[in-house]
Parts: sequence; structure tokens; C-alpha cells
Amino acid sequence: MITSGKTARGMGAIRAAVLPRPGAASEIRSFAPPDLEPGAALLSTLYSEVCGTDVHLRHGRLTGVPYPLIPGHVSVGTLAALRGTLHDLEGRPFREGDVVAFLDVHGTCGTCWYCLVAKESTRCPYRKVYGITYGADDGLLGGWAEQIWIRPGVRLLRLPEGLAPETYIGGGCGAVTAFHAVERGGVRLGQSVVVLGTGPLGLSAIAFSALSGADHVLALGAPDERLRMALRMGAMEAISIETLSVAERQEAVRERTRGRGADVVIEATGDPRAVAEGAGMCRDGGVLVVAGQYTDNGETALNPHALVNRKHLEIRGCWGSDFSHFHGALAAMARHQERFPWRELIGRFYGLEETDAALDAVEARAMVKAGIAPNGGTR
Ligand SMILES: [Zn+2]
Ligand SMILES: [Zn+2]
Repeated sequence: MITSGKTARGMGAIRAAVLPRPGAASEIRSFAPPDLEPGAALLSTLYSEVCGTDVHLRHGRLTGVPYPLIPGHVSVGTLAALRGTLHDLEGRPFREGDVVAFLDVHGTCGTCWYCLVAKESTRCPYRKVYGITYGADDGLLGGWAEQIWIRPGVRLLRLPEGLAPETYIGGGCGAVTAFHAVERGGVRLGQSVVVLGTGPLGLSAIAFSALSGADHVLALGAPDERLRMALRMGAMEAISIETLSVAERQEAVRERTRGRGADVVIEATGDPRAVAEGAGMCRDGGVLVVAGQYTDNGETALNPHALVNRKHLEIRGCWGSDFSHFHGALAAMARHQERFPWRELIGRFYGLEETDAALDAVEARAMVKAGIAPNGGTR
């Protein structure tokens, strides 16, 4: 066991998996329990997850990340301690033993120009994200840990009755972002929607588009196993990108939309080329939501005359999420978990010592998502 500056050994020590620096193997480190200030809480972690962002963090592809890092931005756990009284949205107090999730974004100030004037709180310069922009030196502020320090101001949500923590974490950060992306797309009754990408984000974007009343949801992705999952998540059709050229994919969309293209295209791939491809799949006057480029994967060529100007296309970015998306995704998952198999998106739960194997599995696309169970197996 490795210890350092703010870490501790012995009784009461809390173990966490730490990424010391980009490219290095994960280490188990021990931390002293946090001193809970008024309004803070301690969460005993049930589950966290490995998402594509964690793979990028492993390789140092995100800027402004303070390594060493306890990854895990979306997590769920049991309230183990509270300092003072914390209330939910209805004014009911939280109690020890409540199973809660929390919005990983913390510190959105509510007083800056972006928060107050532009009303773009996901662009607030003061926002911090658990497991991404908080480092291990800041404390237990990532989900790959036995316990998580809930700092004052972090917004908690009790898991709705009947929503298992495994199901919530199956949707995880992909579901919250997808809720935002579908909202950005303005998807509504009767529309045709194309979702590019069948990873965690794309699969939940398919489900939320179907729930929004889209008349036709077409998924394009790979491999075949994920296409089958896309159908179960509400796609009317799922087309493999492995067997069709870009021109053939464009044609496939036109064939299904009376030659016009889709009303809304949601890009959820992480491949910059998919942005131009998605623009080509939109109808004139349609909407393209770019949600899959959370990491900088480079530039792409796009013909602005044909794809934007003449087409009268709206291109909308989708960065992060706010509390309303977290709240909405959780409620939708609770209500519609029988129809959409979020729980099955997790291929396996891994212990704290196995986080490198979990990262390997996600990077190799051996599973849609990996779960992390810091206190041992699934319940
Ligand atoms: Zn702000
Ligand atoms: Zn994520």
C-alpha cells in the first residue's frame, strides 16, 4: 500500500484507486476520513463506473486534470454520515442509510456572467467535476473509492423507489448526457432521429429519443452486439458502420426519410469525422447535436456551403449536464427501466484492485460499460 502527503494508514483509513499520472498503472492509496464541514456528508460507495472519459484520463487526453486523480464521476452510494441537515428538492431531510446519487458537477457559482446572464451554467468557469477536475490531493472526490466526500453544495438525489443502484449506474453518465443531448435536439412527437454511435451515450440517446415520441429512430454504430442493444434501447433500425461506406450510410438515411434526411441527428461517437457525416444526414432546416466530442480528438473537414449555409442547418453543442438533466434522467430510468435494459449495459463489476482491467475492457470495447464496486461485488 502506498501512502503520501494527505493520505493515511491504519484504522479508519479509506481506500481508493488512484491514477498517479497519465499512462501509469492505477494504485491503491489510503486516505484519512474527511473532516466534514457543515453541509457536508460522507457516502459509502456502492458503485461507480468506467466511461470513455476515464479511458481518455488514463491517457492524459483531457486538459486541466490535476493528477494524481481518483476517477469516477458518476457514482451511487449509501449516506454514512451527515454534518447538519441536508434537504432534498421537496424539503425533506436526508438520513443516514439513504441510497443517493449526486450531480458530479460542483461549485457552479450562480453569480458569474455565464450563470446569470447567458444562463449557460455548464460553462461556469468555477464548476468542478468529481473524478475529473478534482484531484486526489483535494480529497476523496472521486467514485473509485470506498467512501466519497460530499462537499457542501453538492446536489444529492435519493434513488427513486424501485430503481436499483445497478440500473442507475448502468445508465450512468451516458444517460445524464444523453438526456441533455435529446433536450438540445428538441426531439418531439413524430420526428425522425438518427443517432450516430452506439456506446453508452448513443444507446441512452436512442432511448430518450424514443421516449420523446420520435416516429423513427435510426442507430448507426458497431459492433453487431451493440446494434442489437440499440434495438432493445428503442431504435427501430440499427445499421452497422462497418459494412457501409460513408456515402452508403447517407443513402441509407435518405431512403428512410423520403429523400429529405432526418429532423434531428445526435452525434455520439467521439470521432470528429462524424460531425460532417451527421450534418449530411440532417434534412434542410434540421438540427445536429454534437455530444460525442467531450475530448479533443482533432479537427475535421466540413463543407459549410453544402452542409450548413444552404442547408439552413442548426448545429448545437452539448457540454456536460446540469441538475435538471441528472434529475430527468434518473426519473426516466426509474419509470422506464422495464422497457430499456440500462442494467445490462454494465458488462461486469470490478473491485478497486481491478480498475486497470476495467479500463482495458472499456478501451477494447469488450463491453459497453464497466462498473466499479469499491466495497465488493454486486448486491
Ligand atoms: Zn458561474
Ligand atoms: Zn462519463
